[in-house]
Amino acid sequence: MQAARVRATVAAVTTGAEFLVRFWGVRGSIAAPGPATARYGGNTSSIEVRCGARLILLDAGTGIRSLGNKLLAEAPVDSDIFFTHTHFDHVCGLAFFKPFFQPQNSFRLWAGHLGSGTTLQRVLREFMAAPLFPVPPEVFKAKMEYREFTAGETLTPAPGIVLRTAALNHPDGATGYRIEYGGKSVCYVTDTEHVPSTPDRNILGLIRGADILIYDCMYTDEEYAEFCVGWGHSTWQEAVRLCLSAGVKKLVVFHHDPDHDDERLDAIGREVEVALPGAVLAREGMVLSP
Ligand SMILES: [Zn+2]
Ligand SMILES: [Zn+2]
Repeated sequence: MQAARVRATVAAVTTGAEFLVRFWGVRGSIAAPGPATARYGGNTSSIEVRCGARLILLDAGTGIRSLGNKLLAEAPVDSDIFFTHTHFDHVCGLAFFKPFFQPQNSFRLWAGHLGSGTTLQRVLREFMAAPLFPVPPEVFKAKMEYREFTAGETLTPAPGIVLRTAALNHPDGATGYRIEYGGKSVCYVTDTEHVPSTPDRNILGLIRGADILIYDCMYTDEEYAEFCVGWGHSTWQEAVRLCLSAGVKKLVVFHHDPDHDDERLDAIGREVEVALPGAVLAREGMVLSP
């Protein structure tokens, strides 16, 4: 009896210290389903982060639908959703996230890129509006709170969890996050465009010494120089340069171009591994622990 109680306590403490990142959508710009993308996955940005018992969601692309289906069994769910920004590929899964329709759940939705001109709630109401969409956000049954901040602020969504933030270089703005928990750190930096030969100081400051960096690697340096300047995205080579200069321990190549099929991503993965051993390409279902 006593031994069982001790074992249970040890298990609870171990679980309490758990810091996990699970990928539900890894694609950029538009979902790209089909046999050619089946291994890495075709869903757009959606990431689940577990900081002990706390659940944090990053972005709400099409991948959040499957994540929501899994969360139904965990109700009541109390969670924070942090948006990098509100471009369509990062919010289009919201209305299909079934936990929003369970009244026992609570969600706080955060955005730091909007400035004073509008609010996150207004942006989502405009996107979920006729004739683009049949129902407004008011159909959600869960307790919904919308919170704005200014990229650069430090947030503490729960005791022991610190989110540092930084403004990214992206059309209409975007926010990069560094989640710190239990002495470890995971950075989520997408969508952002670099300036060749000039490392982004905001990003370097955010990611310094991080255990994991999930970074916008939509293009290769060659593709970027040829036809993607000004589109708001970066390259895996820039990610490697940032990791080396900031002492990041592990790179996760993320926000894959919808036109990069599995074979192309395999080839990119081989180049990344040579340039930065231990780096990985994000794929749906992948779980990492910092
Ligand atoms: Zn995007
Ligand atoms: Zn974007």
